[in-house]
Amino acid sequence: MGMEPFQLKDQQGTHMTIPSLEERFPWLMAGITTRHGGVSHSPYQSLNCALHVGDRAEDVLNNRKKLLDIHRMPTDAWTCGNQVHGDRLHYVKLSDRGRGRLSQADAIDQVDGLYTDQANVFIASFYADCVPLYFVASSHRMIGVAHAGWKGTVANIGAKLVSEWRQNFNIQPREVFAVIGPSIGQCCYEVDRRVIDQIRTLDKSSDQYAITPLNNDKYLLDLKQVNAESLKKAGIPAENIEVSTWCTGCHTDLFYSHRKEGGQTGRMTAYMALKEEATRT
Ligand SMILES: [Zn+2]
Repeated sequence: MGMEPFQLKDQQGTHMTIPSLEERFPWLMAGITTRHGGVSHSPYQSLNCALHVGDRAEDVLNNRKKLLDIHRMPTDAWTCGNQVHGDRLHYVKLSDRGRGRLSQADAIDQVDGLYTDQANVFIASFYADCVPLYFVASSHRMIGVAHAGWKGTVANIGAKLVSEWRQNFNIQPREVFAVIGPSIGQCCYEVDRRVIDQIRTLDKSSDQYAITPLNNDKYLLDLKQVNAESLKKAGIPAENIEVSTWCTGCHTDLFYSHRKEGGQTGRMTAYMALKEEATRT
């Protein structure tokens, strides 16, 4: 908690990195793209890296290559899934490397969380207001990204990842670091009772820190803080959790916002990768 964990990188402002993670764990890279520095046209201008939103595939692939070049990653490292606002996670093995990189058809299907311990695999996931969750467990050199809109948040996808790491890899929650990325802030996220009821079911105390009632049974919801609380309950120490203050809805000059742009827009890419030298043989 405290300082803003995401910092703009490079002169074009194509992406933000997470210096606190990259300094603590120099064997990884982690960040999120902005909408700047790509070749896509309106309403996707310009660094949209998602194939599923109606943008020209050729432009999307050029944008992906640009992002990989910036990170000195080969183009075949790009690995992504087809996100469905669910809670399914996928352990990305070397055999999955490159899935989804050229077309939707071979992306890892129906998955909203990807994690890996393989170097040189660029795990990518897509956002326009939803909450990106980043995870690191240094003892296993395991990294992961999960996509949490309100449905994924209610499904508790972040806690599910923590639990899966503990069960399958004996990674203890207390050693996990998590970062909650730029996404729609409470200032811009008005929801109806149907959403609030499910958030309250997930966390009975959510009214105290994440829900502000408006008129007409509408509410402002702080989805980032709901995720932060869920990760704490899952056993990640509070001091290991950082939360971005960036609101995508307030900053459509910098980010894509599904809400503010009427649903027709591009996607930011939240990504993580282990560097080549991280490979342990
Ligand atoms: Zn806002």
